Amino acid sequence: MRTIEVIQAWGAILSGRSPSVSIEITRECPLRCAGCYAYEEGHAGGFNLRQLHDKKGDELVEGVLEIVNELRPLHLSIVGGDPLVRFRELDKLLPLLEQRGIHVQVVTSAFREIPQQWASINRLSLVVSIDGLQPEHDARRKPATYDRILANIRGHRITVHCTITGQMMRQAGYLESFLSFWAPRDEIKRIWMSMFTPQKGAVAPEILTADERERAVNELLGLRQVYEKLDMPEGLIREFLSPPSSPRECIFAQTTQTISADLKTRITPCQFGGEPDCSQCGCIASMGLAAVGHHSLALGITAGGVYRASTAFGRTLRKVRA
Ligand code: SF4
Ligand code: SF4
Repeated sequence: MRTIEVIQAWGAILSGRSPSVSIEITRECPLRCAGCYAYEEGHAGGFNLRQLHDKKGDELVEGVLEIVNELRPLHLSIVGGDPLVRFRELDKLLPLLEQRGIHVQVVTSAFREIPQQWASINRLSLVVSIDGLQPEHDARRKPATYDRILANIRGHRITVHCTITGQMMRQAGYLESFLSFWAPRDEIKRIWMSMFTPQKGAVAPEILTADERERAVNELLGLRQVYEKLDMPEGLIREFLSPPSSPRECIFAQTTQTISADLKTRITPCQFGGEPDCSQCGCIASMGLAAVGHHSLALGITAGGVYRASTAFGRTLRKVRA
């Protein structure tokens, strides 16, 4: 983050706003991934994503712009479902968001071609979820297979986002094999890795044991020195060993508003919805902001301490205004 962006984010917090907004612009997705949190019961205000009425066409474009005009975020994540289901609407929306100076991130499986004209939009990041090596990924994320992704990202510079699962950590050298496949490609700008985050009390093969989590952290610490595109600072990686104890302690959850596909329902306490198990959180964004929060400024004051004082001030200001 550049200094000007930190100052802008701080200004937003002080005035009681969320610097970051995430919108599930569609309930539709052609994939059926095991462990997908969006389609779990209770994800969005007691419903799952498929049960909400989503918008299409101009209604969607105008609805997103209304949210942006009201909340004035500095950063907008467009997620789903899969946002590429609504690529025609995004074709209209992305240039309008660029004109407003908002940093936009579109998170997709790249199941279809990413429109070429998006490559020239400033302040747009394309994040493609690729969960594992080809045999497991193709089985898990059909129709967004490796072959399709490679064809569909041509002409772009994308961020690869991989969610590490327990199954991956049960095969020696898996993370390195993944990086050695994707890192050398010109279309890949950077690689991010999260870890699977379960709901409270969930049992699933995707969940990492404490030992697997520690091994993943140690491997990432070594791999970041070999693969420059693994864009994860050491401090961020170490945060996976002690995630925020609750949503209240999670700077990411506190600074991001997530809105579902009806453009009304708020997803709480964070983008996972339902009752996520913070003690096993593996979200890279949460870890990144936790690392910033633990950064010492001076005289024992941390950036997190300044953030908490600023949000308290922002909340009071909002109440006074109300
Ligand atoms: S691509 Fe994303 S939204 Fe679609 S099923 Fe998979 S995890 Fe869920
Ligand atoms: S992002 Fe992780 S730590 Fe933050 S509230 Fe959600 S599950 Fe908890």
